[in-house]
Amino acid sequence: MPADDRSATPAVPTKGVGGDPRESNDDVEEAPGKIWFRDLDEAVIEADRCVQCASCVAACPSDSIGIDAEEKRPTLVRMCTGCSRCWDFCPRSGLRYERLIQLAGEERGLEEPETYAARATGGPAEAGQDGGVVTGLLAALLEAGEIDGAVVARESDEQPLRADAFLATSREDLLEAGGSIYTQTMGLGQIEDLLADADLGAEPDLALVGTPCTIQGATALGRYGHEPADPIALTVALMCTRSFEYDRLRSRIESLGVDPERIESLDVGGGVLTAVDDAGELLLETDVESFDAAGLRGCDECADFVGGGADVSVGSVGTDEGYTTVVVRTNNGRSAWNRAEDALEATEIERPEPLERLAEWNRRRAESVLPRGFDPDAEVGITYEDHRRAYDGTDREPQPLNPARVHQYEEWC
Ligand code: SF4
Ligand code: SF4
Repeated sequence: MPADDRSATPAVPTKGVGGDPRESNDDVEEAPGKIWFRDLDEAVIEADRCVQCASCVAACPSDSIGIDAEEKRPTLVRMCTGCSRCWDFCPRSGLRYERLIQLAGEERGLEEPETYAARATGGPAEAGQDGGVVTGLLAALLEAGEIDGAVVARESDEQPLRADAFLATSREDLLEAGGSIYTQTMGLGQIEDLLADADLGAEPDLALVGTPCTIQGATALGRYGHEPADPIALTVALMCTRSFEYDRLRSRIESLGVDPERIESLDVGGGVLTAVDDAGELLLETDVESFDAAGLRGCDECADFVGGGADVSVGSVGTDEGYTTVVVRTNNGRSAWNRAEDALEATEIERPEPLERLAEWNRRRAESVLPRGFDPDAEVGITYEDHRRAYDGTDREPQPLNPARVHQYEEWC
């Protein structure tokens, strides 16, 4: 049901679906216009729709939302003021991401995005997957002084296959972090902490590399003038149809008789998932669809395979082995691409048909799953009430709070 179709269900749902101790106090009126983190928690996280983009963490002006390191989920760490910001910037609740992407394209876009088949020259081509373009681009920008650092993913030392956010400030750092990891870092929510541990001066310029949903959050924060986006000078989206949930990924691998600790490198390409050990021996080769249940369920609602809000999008679709497809979308991306041209070998692609086909498939998947209407021309913000009208009664409706976490709401809301 489209969220805008108010005539179909005139009743406005009341706030809260259960588990919150404050809901049992009928004498206290809900303050008008407030949306609390607990509303986001019920509608997105408890409903198993969170895509771990960390936009809510970055958006919260009172630093009330932290990251549960074990579960890789947003969690309340101090008093929530009900300011609604986490709701407004969450692409699974208040942020109509398809509208944001359209606006970003209109405002920052080149007349037409430029598409290339590219690879890095020299070391990065070996270190990064599919031609090392991201590593080569960022290393060139760092060495030219265009950026001071890049927030990227690096595999956890303790937990193979788990991605950690990492602030790379040198070519060596980037080479160390090269390669793909298919779990989320929640890096957008850690920029302040990463900078606090680095020595990059008062107003550093950073590149943010992440999944398209992460870039949606960063783009929205920048577009609406919020401080957490200030250090982000360049956004690079890694094309994506689904991210894995770490524990589910491990369980699925174990169910196929493979010890995840033995996996040196896991790769997804052409619909096939492969894993090899440190001697290059093949441990696993299987249809990636058989790993669907290990993915983040909220990814089904995502139509942004290409990362339409980013300055530059990168992914391996339809290019020869050793090359990556790169889409330069904005003037900012164009400047960065030009600055790094000596570090890259690139051929323009007139009509990126495989990319267009996959993007179209991804959009149709999202439209078939999204309980709300998919409408790039609608308002960018989705109200709590409209969300409830669209999602209530579906298998994606808000769920009661986890009893183990209710104490947070007693203390901090
Ligand atoms: S989808 Fe992103 S913004 Fe929404 S709750 Fe999850 S981490 Fe926060
Ligand atoms: S499929 Fe979409 S929602 Fe899921 S991780 Fe990728 S960009 Fe994010």
